[in-house]
Amino acid sequence: MFTTIPTKDKVIFLTVDDGYEKDPDFLRMTRELRIPYTAFLTDSAVKDDYAYFRRMQSAGTSLNNHTLSHRYLRGMAHDRQRHEICGQQDVIHNVFGTAPKLFRPPYGAYDGNTLRAAKSCGITHVPLWNTEAFPDHMEWRDADRDLHPGDIILTHFRGPRHWKGSMPDTLRQVLRVATDRGYALARLDDYLPTS
Ligand SMILES: [Zn+2]
Repeated sequence: MFTTIPTKDKVIFLTVDDGYEKDPDFLRMTRELRIPYTAFLTDSAVKDDYAYFRRMQSAGTSLNNHTLSHRYLRGMAHDRQRHEICGQQDVIHNVFGTAPKLFRPPYGAYDGNTLRAAKSCGITHVPLWNTEAFPDHMEWRDADRDLHPGDIILTHFRGPRHWKGSMPDTLRQVLRVATDRGYALARLDDYLPTS
């Protein structure tokens, strides 16, 4: 479990969770600007439009595990946690043909059973985050309210139905913050610590 990747490079990693909003403009913008990001998918959010995420995958984004139904895992019995995590491994394998290596627990809430279950489902890394991006602001976890090399940024597949802006608005917010501070976005998959 980690919220930052150990690196001296001035890079940050964008991660996008759940999957409710399926904005084609987000796909277009990330493809045209070659923005690397990593997706963490919850089946109950994505299953009404797997095709959207297939397009994402074919543009080079890795699709990872965010459970079947976005339950609060901490404190749940090991078997039920395993069902939520291994079940989503199976969905991603069946629908997208890949076996995710990364898992992120919903709400960032996990316990020892979560980590054991995830490992038994084939997960190698459990990246959390230390900054969250919204269309109109950042929510900083660190007291200095700044970026650091290797920081993991969280945002969500959410748009005007939930937030005061679109997914491209959120992306512009992240790009502005990164550029102002001299950071580039990099692929999380390329920087994973070997454990
Ligand atoms: Zn989530």
